[in-house]
Amino acid sequence: MVLIRALSRLAAAAMAGPRPVVLSGPSGAGKSTLLKMLLRDHEGTFGFSVSHTTRNPRPGEANGKDYHFVTREEMQRGIDNGEFLEHAVFSGNMYGTSKSAVRDVQARNQICILDIDMQGVKSIKKTDLNPIYISIQPPSVDILEKRLRDRKTESEESLQKRLKAAREDIAISKEHGLFDSVVINDDLEEAYTNLKKSLAQEIEKAQKAKDS
Ligand code: ADP
Ligand code: 5GP
Repeated sequence: MVLIRALSRLAAAAMAGPRPVVLSGPSGAGKSTLLKMLLRDHEGTFGFSVSHTTRNPRPGEANGKDYHFVTREEMQRGIDNGEFLEHAVFSGNMYGTSKSAVRDVQARNQICILDIDMQGVKSIKKTDLNPIYISIQPPSVDILEKRLRDRKTESEESLQKRLKAAREDIAISKEHGLFDSVVINDDLEEAYTNLKKSLAQEIEKAQKAKDS
């Protein structure tokens, strides 16, 4: 009986297509930068799970591409209707992954990438999504602060909130077994190479599925 259950789980996993990938880590660690490099170099292999947020768009961000920018009321209604896989409040704004964001990418047989905070990681662990968990970490809090300041997207208040969350994130990400890989983003090209190494098996699987 146990063997049959284990075999049927394996069969289900084999039929389910490529495993999703969770990218987490402090704000400013370089998640979006590395993600854009992955999407650029592996066109059609990866698909981004477009989250919902109540924060304001930054210059250059497009609604429906970077985020679904919504009001608190709209977001809360979606949560109440059970439309979200997970949601969290980060730096005073609501963020969440809708079930359809993930479903849309998986329907295209692409590796679905979720860029989510630590609360999101903990929530996703309670679902049956079964992703690969990767943490992107800065070399130090000082360097993180410099990168966030140089990015010029945050008010002083938002920056301080992000740095506070970053200190907690850096400590928690060291917990054994929380992440499959931790990538330190010091030199960007080196971090990118290490990220690709962590994803090599899934990239190969997705490429084979595309070629067959
Ligand atoms: P996140 O998506 O994790 O919030 P970003 O990708 O926006 O972080 O990166 C934060 C800032 O740091 C951006 O301005 C980006 O250009 C810069 N950056 C990212 N990686 C590096 C790196 N390895 N060295 C120097 N600057 C970097
Ligand atoms: P930013 O405002 O810099 O785009 O994102 C702030 C933080 O929210 C980042 O750590 C990012 O990973 C996280 N985030 C973005 N979308 C989601 C989401 O759908 N769920 C959760 N839990 N966090 C998210």
